[in-house]
Amino acid sequence: MIIDGKKFAKSLRSKIKFEIIKIKKNKKPIPSLTVVLVGSYTPSAIYVKNKELSAKEVGINSSVLRFESSISELKLISVIKKLNQNPKVHGILVQLPLPKHINSNTIIETIDPLKDVDGFHAMNVGNLSIGKDSLVPCTPLGCYLLLKSIKKKLVGMNALIIGRSNLNGKPMTQLLLKEDCTVTIAHSKSKDLKNLCKKADIVIAAVGRAQLVKGSWIKKGAIVIDVGINRIDFNGKSKIVGDVDFESTKKKAYAITPVPGGVGPMTIACLLNNTLKAYKNINS
Ligand code: NAP
Repeated sequence: MIIDGKKFAKSLRSKIKFEIIKIKKNKKPIPSLTVVLVGSYTPSAIYVKNKELSAKEVGINSSVLRFESSISELKLISVIKKLNQNPKVHGILVQLPLPKHINSNTIIETIDPLKDVDGFHAMNVGNLSIGKDSLVPCTPLGCYLLLKSIKKKLVGMNALIIGRSNLNGKPMTQLLLKEDCTVTIAHSKSKDLKNLCKKADIVIAAVGRAQLVKGSWIKKGAIVIDVGINRIDFNGKSKIVGDVDFESTKKKAYAITPVPGGVGPMTIACLLNNTLKAYKNINS
């Protein structure tokens, strides 16, 4: 089975849109998201544009605050503090990476955890790890929702997460532990990745190495979620591929996400979902 992330994301966006229509009908304040973009790094500008358009499409009020890359850390902190205090702002997202002279952790920790729609604030990270309700980082949340759409009960399954980043691997670990999976986390120093893969009922690849995971490594009937986005040269043309060799793996797996069209579309849909969740939490 090829897991259609585009379709799933579309249906999630429709649900969010429907909820926002109800909010508007009841003449309540409209959920709003503010994205802070520093500098002119092209991929960041593209991501931010996509986030803005998707937010508008579902009826979320979205705005982008743009700053020169020379902005000081102190100034950026004061911008975020103002957004924290603004009752009309429900979600705050600071697009990463930030210029080198700004400490990303300091900036993330300045965001009000209730408005931290990226789920990176230590309070949200901690709440997720102790099993409390929290805002969960968008990409692992998207992977989790896709996984649950394939299999409702994951109890006792052996899950291998390849990659231990704060953005993907670590939150994914918490989500799967909560589902009573037996979780193994692999990273660049792990030995014999092939063997670890062979034992896994679920493989989540969040590495950033093109087609690292081969079909011959996959246990028959496993579920494979590919987070990776890698640009490679293919017959003289540029092509996007995942961390999993899709062609050989789809023959062995029970279900697999393609790249593109798998996890990617879920990330922005989950950001909108987090914005709506933050809005509800703030208003309750
Ligand atoms: P990251 O911060 O660079 O982390 C990569 C992880 O992979 C690290 O833990 C690293 O180990 C591990 N690793 C590297 N080489 C390895 C190897 N040969 N074997 C096993 N583990 C290895 O990356 P990230 O931010 O998590 O992103 C991972 C991928 O997901 C990238 O391709 C990125 O573009 C993609 N991504 C996709 C989305 C989406 O919406 N689909 C969103 C975010 C990211 P160490 O910890 O030991 O260094």
